[in-house]
Order: sequence, then structure tokens, then C-alpha cells
Amino acid sequence: MTVHPMFPPGPAADKDRIVYAEDGLKRESSAPCQLNCPAEIDVPSYIALIGQGRYKEAIDLIRMDNPFPWVCGLVCPNPCESWCQRRYLDKALCIKDLKGFAAKMVCEKGPGYTIPAPKNTYSEKIAVIGSGPAGLTAAYFLAWEGYPVTVFEAMPEAGGLLVTGIPEFRLPRRVVRNEVEAIKAMGVEIVLNTPVGGADLTLDHLRKQGYKAFFLGIGAWQALKLGIEGEDQYPQVLNALSFLKDIAFGPKIKPANSVAIVGGGNAAIDTARTCVRLGSQSVSIIYRRTRSEMPAHFEEIIQMAEEGIHVHQLTIPSRIIGSYGKIDFLECVMATLGEPDETGRRRPVPIEGSEYKMPVGAVIAAIGQKPDLVNYPGFGDLELTKWETIKVRSHNQQTSVDDVFAGGDAVTGPKTVVEAIGAGKRAARAIHAYLRGEALPKRQPPRPRDMVRPILMDYHEKAFIQRQEIPLIDLDRRIHTFDQVELGLDEYAAKEEAKRCMRCDICERCGKCVEVCRDRLGVSAIRFHHAGENSLILKDYVHGLPRCIGCGACVNICPTGALQMVDQGDQRLILMSGTIINRIKMEKCEGCGAYYISKVLLKHVEKLVGAPEEAFDRKLCPDCKRIDHAAKMVGMPPDFTEIRRDRAAAATTP
Ligand code: SF4
Ligand code: SF4
Ligand code: SF4
Repeated sequence: MTVHPMFPPGPAADKDRIVYAEDGLKRESSAPCQLNCPAEIDVPSYIALIGQGRYKEAIDLIRMDNPFPWVCGLVCPNPCESWCQRRYLDKALCIKDLKGFAAKMVCEKGPGYTIPAPKNTYSEKIAVIGSGPAGLTAAYFLAWEGYPVTVFEAMPEAGGLLVTGIPEFRLPRRVVRNEVEAIKAMGVEIVLNTPVGGADLTLDHLRKQGYKAFFLGIGAWQALKLGIEGEDQYPQVLNALSFLKDIAFGPKIKPANSVAIVGGGNAAIDTARTCVRLGSQSVSIIYRRTRSEMPAHFEEIIQMAEEGIHVHQLTIPSRIIGSYGKIDFLECVMATLGEPDETGRRRPVPIEGSEYKMPVGAVIAAIGQKPDLVNYPGFGDLELTKWETIKVRSHNQQTSVDDVFAGGDAVTGPKTVVEAIGAGKRAARAIHAYLRGEALPKRQPPRPRDMVRPILMDYHEKAFIQRQEIPLIDLDRRIHTFDQVELGLDEYAAKEEAKRCMRCDICERCGKCVEVCRDRLGVSAIRFHHAGENSLILKDYVHGLPRCIGCGACVNICPTGALQMVDQGDQRLILMSGTIINRIKMEKCEGCGAYYISKVLLKHVEKLVGAPEEAFDRKLCPDCKRIDHAAKMVGMPPDFTEIRRDRAAAATTP
């Protein structure tokens, strides 16, 4: 088998894995999934490793960018999947679930996470306030750099919203504890039940104790109020944050038989689904826009509906009515959608005279939250935004106070776990630069972590593997228990799913192959088409390249090695990022017996030079043609014995 190398020859060219920095190639990952991952995970590389059964390596690679692979494998809203190029063929890859699968394999059936050794040893102490995903990510990367890091947490358990705000049926506590333990194993000290920012312990106190830099991952713990009549009159008016926290740490008691939850985000839906599990008979979501505009994850909205939760869309709560200290009704008004507001979403406009009363026993507000900086003035004079979140420079998370950095919900308001992780990582980079007296880093494109060879397979096999379904526990059981609802991929499904990846990181869409095939050869076999904004995909992915003549011109010109040509027996294979996009029959040399040229290419050349000509009367490879020519000159019959022997020897050499 002759392999025309996918990568230019170099010290690492024949190795299974090529690290970019060492192989002399100047290449950046252009995979849209990685570009759109807030934690900048090298998605195609870990998917390929999973496809090859190398789960530990996949997790090691993910943890180069994100210390929470298992958590993200369960609760990430997967922004990467919205950009997955495979969705232009059928559906996006289950990127999130593949991560969750690998983490589970490594932690439950394998050796657990690798604990990276510090790269250096520094003496400057760093204090991280808050042990949510932003704080622990900053701590992880700073400990990895070699700093002594202490995390101060007000709650009795580390994890922030991961343990207080996300119910166990979505994110089991053991998963969070697993990730936290791996961070502690790097030497990060976590001090629980120790709030910072109040009168007892301020940043100035910590400065006096020798801390040289601070990261505030204090979250957004002050719930926004509904601002309607009756809100402060009844103890059955709750907010989602406190409700979920109480359920996480205290007794699991239903708030009422009939509950209305106001809001359309994940907190609202988590609250509603929790109420169902606590035994509330009637649980409703009150949302002022339409269901399709709810900011909650799509899967959660579907699962919520399956669990019998009703959404009152285009409905605005206007008053809480009760008697003898108990709520009787939530009065609502119907709405219609008006002009778009500053977020681009259409503003709900109340319809006059459409008020109606909904009988409820409890109302839970889940309309957002902001950081509690009023009750915690000990962070100093931090500049705030108009939304009362902490103002930072977005590329390095530095606040208006030089030695204080911040990230997560305290900066953005309620956002996703993976966005908090991204902020913690950026802050760690910046704190390291700050403490070393270097310029703070600018925003950089995500870094490819590895070059894992793609999984070799035919285009028709790849194109027709369907996205795997994620199994759920039975609905009957689901609504009575806090057991994890999504069961995740099994090993077979994960490997099948991994095969669907089109390895968009290898081809950089330069178009040189299209140019040479169309403009120089006049064949136009290889074509790309615009599948969406900034998305160019191979046009004939599901059909192969029926017009390809197997000349290899595109392979030679491709600057990244995405195109590859492999001669295998009587076939010439053209590969695109590991997918065999064409198999072409080869012509056998009548002299030595080796396959040496594609049949269609031979025909193409014959056509160009006006065949049949003497040159093509006998089908000879270039070596045999030389022997034939020399023999003709001296009037002897050609002798191909030696070259046949060489070919046979080469074929048996591994
Ligand atoms: S097909 Fe693979 S490389 Fe391309 S965007 Fe999807 S996951 Fe990423
Ligand atoms: S190998 Fe096929 S696709 Fe590539 S340049 Fe030649 S004809 Fe075109
Ligand atoms: S030559 Fe073609 S296959 Fe190679 S990187 Fe450019 S567009 Fe991609």
C-alpha cells in the first residue's frame, strides 16, 4: 500500500499523533465547534480519541482547557453543537454527551483523572472567592501554573450553583464532588463556611494576610423581584435560587399543591421539575413571551412538557391575591408581542382587559438575579455595570482594582456553566501575567491541543450514521425521584457517534483544491458549497466524487494535509479529513504487474493527447516504460524480471 502522506515529511510525520508546535506546520484549528466553545476545548481531537477507544487521553485533552468534563458532559447547553458542520448533512454531533461518556468511563470504570503536576513553583498566594465553576476553574489553572491557591466558600459544600442551583436529576452531587476532589488534589485549598466581603473578612484583611491577587467568582445571589402587589405579603412567595438551595441542603418539602413559577430560563424549569418531584399536583410556568423564546435549554423544555408542566405563554403576572396569610390566586394579564427590545426579542405588551385569576398555593420567581454587593461591601470600590454586575475587561477579566479579577455570573449575570469556566480560565492567564509583571494577555483564538488522526471510513458509511438518541429513565419513575434523567451514551453508541465527525479542524477551506481541479484540470470534481453563514462544506459528501479522475493534483496542493491519496491494491483512494470520498479502479502495468495509475486518469490523458497512440498501446508504468524503450532501441525484447522482483519485495516489506 502506498500512502501519500497526509502531513509533510518531518520528524513527527509518521507518528500517530502530531503536536502542532513540534511538526513545523503552521496550522490553526478552524473547527467551528472549538471556536464556539466558551472553554475552547479541542472538540474534534477528543471526539477522534473517543472513536478510537482512547477515553483517558480524550479526558486528559479536555482537561487541558476545562477541569469540569463530567459536569459539562451533563449540563452544558452545548453552544458548539449549534455550529457543528454536520448539521448541514443531517444533525449536529452529540458533542456534550460524548464528553460526558468519556468522563464517566474514566471516573467510574477507569483510573480517574490525571492530576497535572505544577509547571513551576511560585510563592505569591492567590485567594479565590467563591467555589462555583468560575472560581474553581481559575484555581485549577493557577495551581497548575504553580501558585498556592486558597478558595473561600460561604456554603458548607464546594461547587456554587452546581450544587445549590442545578437539581440532582440533571447533575448528581457525586459528579460535582468528583471534579472538586480532582482540583483539590492539585493542592488547591478550599475553606468552607467562610464568606468573604462582609465585615469579618474583606479583601483588605486578605491582603494583610499576604494574598497578592484575587479572583471573585461570587456568583449572582440576589434574586430579582417580581415587583407586583402582594409579593411581600405572603410567605409562599419564594425565589428560585433560595428554593433550589433549600431543597439541595435541607428537607425535600413541596411548596404547595399548586405552584406557579414565573420565568422562562433554566432556573424556572429546574424549579418546576423539582416541584413535580416533590409531589405538587399542578405546576405551571408563567412566561411573558412565547415558548419558542424561552431561554432555557431545548431538551429541558421538552422534558418539562413530558413531565406534565404547563406553560402559560404570553402571560404576565400582575398581582398576588390571598387571605389569612395564604396565597389564593395569581392574577395574570395576557400579552401580545410588540416591537423588539434592546435584546432583539419582541417586547411583550399587556392586553387591556385580559386579566384572569389562577388558583395557586405558591408563587416562585425565577426572573433573574444579580450579585449581592450591597450586603458584601468588603470587596472594595469595584466599578459596576448598569445591571449592577462587576465591570471587567472582557479579554482578561481584570476589574477596576488592579489585583482583583472577576468572572462568572457576578460579571455576566446568570449565564451558563461553560461560560463561567471560560471566564475562570481567562482570569487565571491574566492573574499569572499580572503576578509575573507581564502585559495582560489579549484575547487569542483557541489553541489546537493535538492532531489526532481521523477515523478512516467511507463517505457513504459516515454520511448515513444517524445521531444517537440519548436514553432517559422511564417517565413514571422520573417524576417521583431525583435520579439522573439522562442516561448518556453507551460505549457502542459513543463510538458510532464519534465516527460522524467531519473533522473540520483539518481542512482550512482555502479552496486551492477546487481551483486546481476546476481551473487547471477542467474536471471540477471537488466542490464546496455554502451551507450557512461562514460554512463551506464539501458538496459531494454524500455522493463521493463521481467525476474525480484520481490525479492527486488536489492532494499535492492542499496546504493542510486534509486531502490524502492512498493506493490500496487495485484501488486509489482519495481521502478528505479521513473520509474516503472516492475509490477509483487502478490500471495494472503489463510489465511489472503493479497498479500504477487510475483507469479514468489514463483515459483522461488519452483523450487529451488524442489516443490511441503508440504510447498507450501497452499499459506500462513509468519504470517499465523506460525498460521497454531501452529494449526497443537495441532491438531486444524487454526484460521486466528484476523490476517484478523489486515490486514483490516492496509489497512484502511492512
Ligand atoms: S463535524 Fe466534528 S469537527 Fe466539525 S463542527 Fe461538528 S464536531 Fe466539530
Ligand atoms: S484527485 Fe480528483 S478531486 Fe483531486 S484534483 Fe484530481 S480529479 Fe480533482
Ligand atoms: S486544499 Fe482543499 S482540502 Fe486542502 S485545506 Fe484547502 S480547501 Fe481544504
